[in-house]
This record gives sequence, structure tokens and C-alpha cells, in this order.
Amino acid sequence: MLTRRHALLGTATLSLAATGARAAEPIPVVVSFSILADFVREVGGERVRIDTLVGPDQDAHALQPAPGDARRIATARVVVLNGLGFEGWMTRLIRAADFKGTQVLASQGIRTLRAQHGHSHGHSHGHSHGHGHGHGQTDPHIWQDPKRAQVMVRRIAAGLAAADPAGKASYDANAARYNERLEALHAQVEAQYADIPRARRRVVTSHDAFAYYGERYGIDFLAAQGVTTRGEPSAQHISRLVQQIRRERITAIFVEGMANPRILEQVAAESGARVGGTLYSDALSGPDGPAPTYEAMIRHNTSRIAEALAG
Ligand code: ZN
Repeated sequence: MLTRRHALLGTATLSLAATGARAAEPIPVVVSFSILADFVREVGGERVRIDTLVGPDQDAHALQPAPGDARRIATARVVVLNGLGFEGWMTRLIRAADFKGTQVLASQGIRTLRAQHGHSHGHSHGHSHGHGHGHGQTDPHIWQDPKRAQVMVRRIAAGLAAADPAGKASYDANAARYNERLEALHAQVEAQYADIPRARRRVVTSHDAFAYYGERYGIDFLAAQGVTTRGEPSAQHISRLVQQIRRERITAIFVEGMANPRILEQVAAESGARVGGTLYSDALSGPDGPAPTYEAMIRHNTSRIAEALAG
């Protein structure tokens, strides 16, 4: 009798301790890059502890993983990545770490676009990891469309819930709340372009990161580089771009937060156009910059682009 009571008490104490430990101990989640980490932070809240492999202002296309990165993955319970060839190194790291936890592919179920190579620089992607179908390549920059971002957010909520079923209600509620904000953000962006004639909506950037944004808001983006920042654009591609900027009197020309501005500055100099500022494409800014969150990034980019197109 005494023994049984003791056993029962013991069980109660143990399960209390387990519950307490779970609430106090956030789930370790490794996320490939800063923008995705912002989504995971919104959805996971205090239930997750996020370790971001490619931080603010860093280029995820060009990452050379350090030996420590595989260790960081090995200690995680959840790994979140974009996929679509954006962080091909991530797949290799996951394998190297012999990761047995939950993998969340944020791009799953999203309608993708084929990469636009401009005219001539298929060969500039010689170093990029093969994600092509035939000679085309899938454009990985899905997050630039606030509508697709909402699908990513739901996918992250489902992935976190799979790893942590006790948190499902919390993840779902956070995702729903955040997606309401992203829907409002989308409406704001539409409103900002409403008065700009379709024919004027042409923007030049460093690399081809804005096709999804452009498709959503009816803007043509022309880029010095293709969908990856690896490799150099051909002289012929640059010269065509310069001619097009002159011919069409394109005024909206931007460098990117994480990318080397050299090629774009060369394009601007040769075309006589002025660089209109910085857009954030594949990375957030630091906390004191203009794009420390996804929402701030979309607002910043939209304001800069709308100003340049109106002027
Ligand atoms: Zn990119």
C-alpha cells in the first residue's frame, strides 16, 4: 500500500517535472537563412530556440559551410530550409550531420517559376548545384511574394507541430495571426503601386531575386546576374542590359544588401543611370538596418521601388 502510494506520487512528480522541463526548454531549431528564421520566430515563439546558419546581410547562395555547421545541425531537433536549390549546401550538411530529427521544407507545395536567364548567361550558372529541369532552373526566391510567404508560414507551423505535437495549437494560432499581418502587408504593397502605369514598372537589380514579387505586383525585374549570385555574368549580358537601361530610360536601379555591388555599379556607370539605393533580397539587414524583419524588408523594398518608378 505504502509502496503503491509512493509509486503513484513518484509518477506524478516525474510527469510534472517533464512538463516543466518542456515548457522551460525551447526546441532547438536550425534554420538556413535569416528571412526564413524570421518566419520560424513568428510561428515558434517561445517554444523554439533558433540557430540561423546564414545571418543578416549574408549571402546564402555562396555559403562555404564550416565544420561546426554540421555539429549545429546534429544538436537540433528541427531543421528548416527553403529548398529549390537555394541552399544546396544544407542538404549536404544534413547528411554529414546524420540528422535524424524533423526536416521542414518551407517551399513544399508552392507553385514555382522557372528562372529567367535574360538572354545569354546560362553558362554563368556553371557552379550552381543542379536543380534544373532540362536546361531551365527553378527560381528559389519564393519568399519575395507575400502570398507565397503565407504558404511557407503554414508549412513551418505544420513542421514544428510534427516535431512538437504539444505545441500544435500555439503554432497554428501564431501562424494564423502572422498570416493576417502578411495579408495586410500584401494589400499595402498593391496600394503603393496602384498609380504607377504598368509600362513604367521596370527595375534593375544585382541578381534575379524578385521574379515572384514582380509576378505578384506586375513589375519587370532585370538583373545583372541570374538566380544565383555565384559565377560572373557575361560581358555580352551586361552590355545588353546597359543598352536596355538607356533605351527604355529605366530609372529604378538597385544594389542588394547582401550582394557585392560591383557589377551593378558598373552597369549603372556604363548606362549613365544612378543607383537608387539598396533592396533586400536573400537576407534581412541587421537590427539597426532598414530590414530587420520580413515585413520591414517588404515595406522598405516597396517604398524604394515605388519612389524610383514614380520619379
Ligand atoms: Zn538569390
